[in-house]
Order: sequence, then C-alpha cells, then structure tokens
Amino acid sequence: MSRPLEILNEVFGYPAFRGQQGEIVEHVADGGDCLVLMPTGGGKSLCYQIPSLVRRERGFGTGIVVSPLIALMQDQVAALTEVGVRAAYLNSTLSSAEAMAIERALRDGDLDLLYVAPERLMTPRFQELLERSRIGLFAIDEAHCVSQWGHDFRPEYIQLSVLHERFPNVPRIALTATADAITRDEIIHRLALEDARVFVSSFDRPNIRYRIAEKDNARTQLLDFIRAEHTRADGTTDAGVVYCLSRRKVEETAEWLKEKGVRALPYHAGMEFEVRQKHQEMFQREEGVVMCATIAFGMGIDKPDVRFVAHLDLPKSVEGYYQETGRAGRDGLPSNAWMAYGLGDVVQQRKMIDESEADDAHKRVQTGKLDALLGLCETATCRRVRLLAYFGETSQPCGNCDNCIEPPPTWDATREAQMALSCVFRAQRASGFHFGAGHLIDILRGNRSEKILQRGHDKLTTFGIGAALGEPEWRAAFRQLVAFGYLTVDHEGFGSLVLTEASKPVLRGEQKVTMRRYVKPTRTRQSSGRTSERADPTIGMGPRERARWERLRMWRTETAKSDGVPAYVIFHDATLAEIARLGPASIDALRGVPGIGARKLDRFGYELLHVVAAD
Ligand code: ADP
Ligand code: ZN
Repeated sequence: MSRPLEILNEVFGYPAFRGQQGEIVEHVADGGDCLVLMPTGGGKSLCYQIPSLVRRERGFGTGIVVSPLIALMQDQVAALTEVGVRAAYLNSTLSSAEAMAIERALRDGDLDLLYVAPERLMTPRFQELLERSRIGLFAIDEAHCVSQWGHDFRPEYIQLSVLHERFPNVPRIALTATADAITRDEIIHRLALEDARVFVSSFDRPNIRYRIAEKDNARTQLLDFIRAEHTRADGTTDAGVVYCLSRRKVEETAEWLKEKGVRALPYHAGMEFEVRQKHQEMFQREEGVVMCATIAFGMGIDKPDVRFVAHLDLPKSVEGYYQETGRAGRDGLPSNAWMAYGLGDVVQQRKMIDESEADDAHKRVQTGKLDALLGLCETATCRRVRLLAYFGETSQPCGNCDNCIEPPPTWDATREAQMALSCVFRAQRASGFHFGAGHLIDILRGNRSEKILQRGHDKLTTFGIGAALGEPEWRAAFRQLVAFGYLTVDHEGFGSLVLTEASKPVLRGEQKVTMRRYVKPTRTRQSSGRTSERADPTIGMGPRERARWERLRMWRTETAKSDGVPAYVIFHDATLAEIARLGPASIDALRGVPGIGARKLDRFGYELLHVVAAD
C-alpha cells in the first residue's frame, strides 16, 4: 500500500481517495507544483494535508497553508488535532504570547501543518521566520482571491508569488472552487504557476438535488419544503441556509420562520459585527440552525452538514447560483438546492442592473448573466446538464433534479405567445406607454378594470382574446417570454414589458414557442422528494438504530462541548449513522467505519461502544 493511502486510512479513517485526490497527493508529495480546481466539498483539504505528512516523514519541514478565512482555519486545526496531527494557526485572534509559542514550534520543527493568514505571511518578520525554519510545502487555499475581478479579491494574495522566488525548492499547491477559465488563468499568471500541473475535477455535485419552483407564496412554500423534507421526528430541523436579496427580507423571513417554530437566525452586513459573528458561530457549531442571509454570508461557511440551501430571490448569475447552492452537502450526503422564482424576480434584478452605477458594457455583461440564469430556471430539461454546460462540461440527464424526477409538461404556446406579444405592441401604440404583466393580462383576459376603462383598452383588438387561460397561466407565460428574450423589462424600472427584436419572427408566425405548462404549486408537489432519497441520514433505520443514533448525537454534543469544537469535528453524521446501523460490539468492528481513524478509535472507541451497548 502506498504511504499516502496508509495515512488516509490510519489518520483520517477513510478507505479510499476520491476522484483525483490520490494523484494530486502523490504529485505534491514528490515535490511538484500544481493548481487544483475542485468543487466545494470535493475534498481539497486532504490534497495538501496528506502531502505535508508524507513530506515530514521524508525529512522535509512543515506544510504552510495560506488561508484568508479565520473561522475556517480554527476549525481545520481543531479537526486535525482531533486526528492527532500537529497543526496550529497564526492569525489576529491570538495573543502575542500564543503567537510566539507557535513561531517557536515552527522553528523547532514541531509542527506538521501551520495555517497562516495572508497578511501575516507577507510581513518581513514572518518571512524571516520562514527562512530560519524548514518548510515542506506551501498550500494556497482559496487561490481565486488573487483575481482582481472576483468579489473575494485580497490584495495580499498578489504578493504570494514572492514565495516562489524566495523558496524555489518548496512545492506549491494552489486550490480553488472557482470554475471559470479567466480566473484560472489569472491564478496561474499571478502566482507564477506556469509550469505547474493543473488538476481540473468535474464540477458536478451529484448529491445535491436541484429544484426551482414557481413562486406562489414563497414563504409558505419554503416552510412547506422545510417541514416536508428537513424536519426530524423530534421537531428539530436540519441545518440550512435561506438566501434573500435584501436585509429587510432576511430579518422578516427569520422572524417569520421563528414564529413557525423553526430555529432561524438572520445574517447580513448591516448587522452589528458581534451579533453577526455570534450567529455565524451558532450556525457553525450547533445543530439544526436555519440561517436566513444575504450573500454576505458566504465564503467562511465550512460546515459539512448543511442539508439545504434555499433561495427566496433569484441570484444574479449561474455562477452565483452554483456557488451559493454549493454550500449544501459538503459531506457528500443527499442535500437540497431549492428555489422559488417568479416574474417579480426578473423585474427586480433587471431594475438593479439598470440602476447600478456600472457603465453600459458592464451592464450588458450582467444582463447576459441574468439571461443565462433565467434559461436555467425555465428549462424543461435536466437542470444539472444545463448548469454543467454553463461551465463547459457535457453530461447526461441526472435523475436528481426536479425536471428529471417529474418531467414538466410542455405545450405549443405559439398562438398564446403571439397574443401576448401583440397585446404589448397594441397597448403601447394606443397610449404611448409600456405596461406591466398585470395590466396586459387584464386586457388579454377581458377584465374591465378601472385602469382598462380609463385608458380605453377595452377597445383594443386583443381585449379578451386570451380569456381561455387563467391569470396564473398568463403570468407563467409572460415570465417565460421574458426568460426566452422575446420581451424585456423596460429601463424605468417599474416592470413594464417591451418587445425585443427576437419577438418579430414569433409575431410573423415564423417561429414556434414551446412553454412549460403552469402547474399550481401544491403541498404534495412540494414534498414529492422520494422518501428513500430524503436528505436524512436516519432513513431506513429501525427504532433500535434510531434510538442509538439519538444517543450517539447526544454523546457527540457533549463531547464537542467539552473539547470546544463544532460537533462535526468529533464525527460527521455519516459516521454516526453508520455506527448506529452496525451496532458494533468490539473495537475491531468500529475500525472499519469510515471517518474513524486510529486516533479517534483510541480516544473514543470505548465510549462509543458504551453508547451503543445501552440498547
Ligand atoms: P473542500 O475544501 O474541497 O470544500 P473538504 O476538504 O472540506 O472539501 O472536504 C469535504 C468533506 O469530504 C470533508 O468532510 C472531508 O472529510 C470529506 N472527504 C474528503 N476526502 C474524502 C475521502 N477520500 N473519503 C471520505 N471523505 C472525504
Ligand atoms: Zn436532472
């Protein structure tokens, strides 16, 4: 057996490397540079942790990990310490005495891994310390922070190329979950990794089930979803994130969910720093917290057992959607990405683009990104195929998204599309104004509302021609016409709809339009996730196993508390569930459980057997 694999088994307790991990580990352990592009949850950490340990054994020094995220560093160090690796971090949260002790440990060669914030790494004092210590490798985590175009840009990251000049013989591994080619090239260029090997993993997250629902009453839909799919027998919920666009909506949603008995907390950049920090910590460390947040809640989330990410508002782009939903299910267990979306979202996003300070070129780019996302929302075919295609990957229908599970009925809506488009045209010509979907639908359905009569729109030839369809059907149709690009939202920002060039062939009868049929959202539809695949690790357990699982969770909570670490640092859900299922009666039987390495077996083995034995 190779040494890296032995370390994976013994120290981390996992039976096999995932995807390209094994190859990456060998490459770095043998002193090679590389850039690793791997999705969130793909297992990037082991790609530098195991080479560090291997290189230590081969007589090299400590692995230095550059990471911008303080909370993440702390949890990683806690997790490594639990498995018996000598790891530490240096950042602004340490007192100077603590920092000095760690610097000494580095110099004396007592550390396997040291996590350092980038601003500290570049100080002359630390550079000098590095010169006087033995270094086994440099790992540059979240390497996309060198990209000046990304929103995670960190100026200190640019200076990291100095490492290469000062320590030409120390291998470097840069890692990121950002998929696009521009960022990749920028990382290679700025970190002087031109000669490094590039490992690109598939960006698929097979354990995430994608669903995009038509917005009806979004909050109620959300609550139904949480109750149907993420509430356990004892009434507690899974950990999840609910993204909202505005700070106000974040607070209102959290408040409302709380009233409904969900343990929800708000998080946005307008909150006091201490409160925000406290909420993040509760989410990270405790179980079953639902975080309602703006996208300010982002990069620092390293919680492996987030079971769902819900969007109450439309993200800005496919990249945003991918990144935000990607925070679910890092541990590889079934998880949900759920979104409610309606015409109002499109209007709102368009308005935000129009009202932004950006120049026209930039606005065009943003509009293009929004359009790609609308395409994903309205597609009647596999969401995953569409999502991966956006990142340049081809794939087959996944069987794990709403469209695959329940293919939406489609219909030939050419005639209705013509009615709607000509209604936009005639109403505009008659009054010189553009109108929103509500008014246009009133005309089509022949509604003699006050506004219709005032404007004389009951005289239009399109008045009443669409009475055969109900209001929600028409709403869905207008939304799709916008998503397909036949209509656009005007620049005044009131949500008025305007014809585009693309609408002409439809009006002339030269182009067919196929739409998804509107299906009224109902409770049963909301919870149609086949129960055997529900994102619940206890699925399929009998009462005895379930009782074990509950006891094991209690034990884990206490142990985590006394160690001062998040629960998942002790054991992941998957590990506990496996123990509950096996009901092991000996240390040997525990040894084979994924996630139990030598050190944890040593420390916790007998306690676990006790907990299990209480059946
Ligand atoms: P990333 O940094 O790429 O988002 P992590 O390094 O945090 O991902 O790993 C995600 C999860 O997958 C962690 O809980 C980790 O323990 C687990 N993991 C990683 N590699 C393996 C493996 N080879 N076998 C089993 N679990 C793994
Ligand atoms: Zn699919």
